Amino acid sequence: MTCKFFNPGPTWVRPEILQELARPVMGHRTPEFRDLYGGILTNLKPLFGTTGDAFVVTSSGTGVMQAALENCVGRRVLVTTCGAFSERWFAIAQSLGFEVDRLDAGWGKAVDPEALADHLVSRRTQYDAVTLTHNETSTGVTNDIAALAQAVRDESAGTLVLVDAVSSLGGIPMRFDEWGIDVCLASVQKGLALPPGITVAAMSKAALERAKKVPYRGTYFDLVQYKEKADDLTVPSTPSISHFYALGAQLDHIVRQEGLDARYERHRRMRDTTLQRSAKYAKAASDPTHASCTVTALQPVKPPDVIRAEMKKRGYTLGGGYGEWKDTTFRIGHMGDIPLDDLNAMLDVLEEVALG
Ligand code: PLP
Repeated sequence: MTCKFFNPGPTWVRPEILQELARPVMGHRTPEFRDLYGGILTNLKPLFGTTGDAFVVTSSGTGVMQAALENCVGRRVLVTTCGAFSERWFAIAQSLGFEVDRLDAGWGKAVDPEALADHLVSRRTQYDAVTLTHNETSTGVTNDIAALAQAVRDESAGTLVLVDAVSSLGGIPMRFDEWGIDVCLASVQKGLALPPGITVAAMSKAALERAKKVPYRGTYFDLVQYKEKADDLTVPSTPSISHFYALGAQLDHIVRQEGLDARYERHRRMRDTTLQRSAKYAKAASDPTHASCTVTALQPVKPPDVIRAEMKKRGYTLGGGYGEWKDTTFRIGHMGDIPLDDLNAMLDVLEEVALG
């Protein structure tokens, strides 16, 4: 089966994983579900790089971004932005009525840890949380979460670090404990190569203690309940059980069959191959020193819409430009389970189209 779908999420799903969705539904308060969820939680720990708490929420990633803010912020939050998806944190925080500041890196750039440290020092405001975006899908930029989280810890003790890893988890290493993250979330339709509909998350003890003190954190997205139920290998309300089957099988594949190191190396090679081979007909749209291993935004000589339409005629789906970059760029999603050979086959065709 050849992959011809190079969308930066949802991504291509292997046929055997799609078949998992067709398994008979079971009750979610049964020993069978506990077994399945127990296996999922075991495999989520190395994926997140944590020995602490992880769980699965039946919602897309945006729901759990909202949950992270609702559970961890009482009043003030700092949002770091560098493109459309990091700006989503800002929109959610505003809609919840919080006092929101933003630190803008600009589209195509990574957030500078020194600028973050300076911002935290120069403002006397104590933020409840800072939001970070590991991989900005609209521009193809990967932020240095280790350095950014360190800046928060150094300059603003007690401020929680909330990380969107939607388009990085499963394609770019995540070290939740080592980097000192408090909440990390990822919907599954990107680097984890599953159909969209559920989100995985990890949560620190500090975030859990903070959440317990937030009086009105709602019901559906109460992360304290997610943690307590996960301790009992279940979830607070009826989950998308079919997705859990698929997640269980896919995490076994990622962690035990392909292996995390091999998976990250394949993603690095997909990034390098894409950048190297596209240089003949397009400019990398973003700072190459922070080029993402999961998605590349390209500024081609030919109009991006024409290129995508021509590729579509040949059976290939590429991602469109996003937001401010809609008309000037297109994006190649190279994440999830895509084999390097399939990426190269697509790049052969793209070269013909873009140069022709
Ligand atoms: N954050 C990033 C970096 C994303 O790429 C996306 C979706 O593309 C989201 C958040 C939103 O996730 P979802 O569509 O699962 O709500």
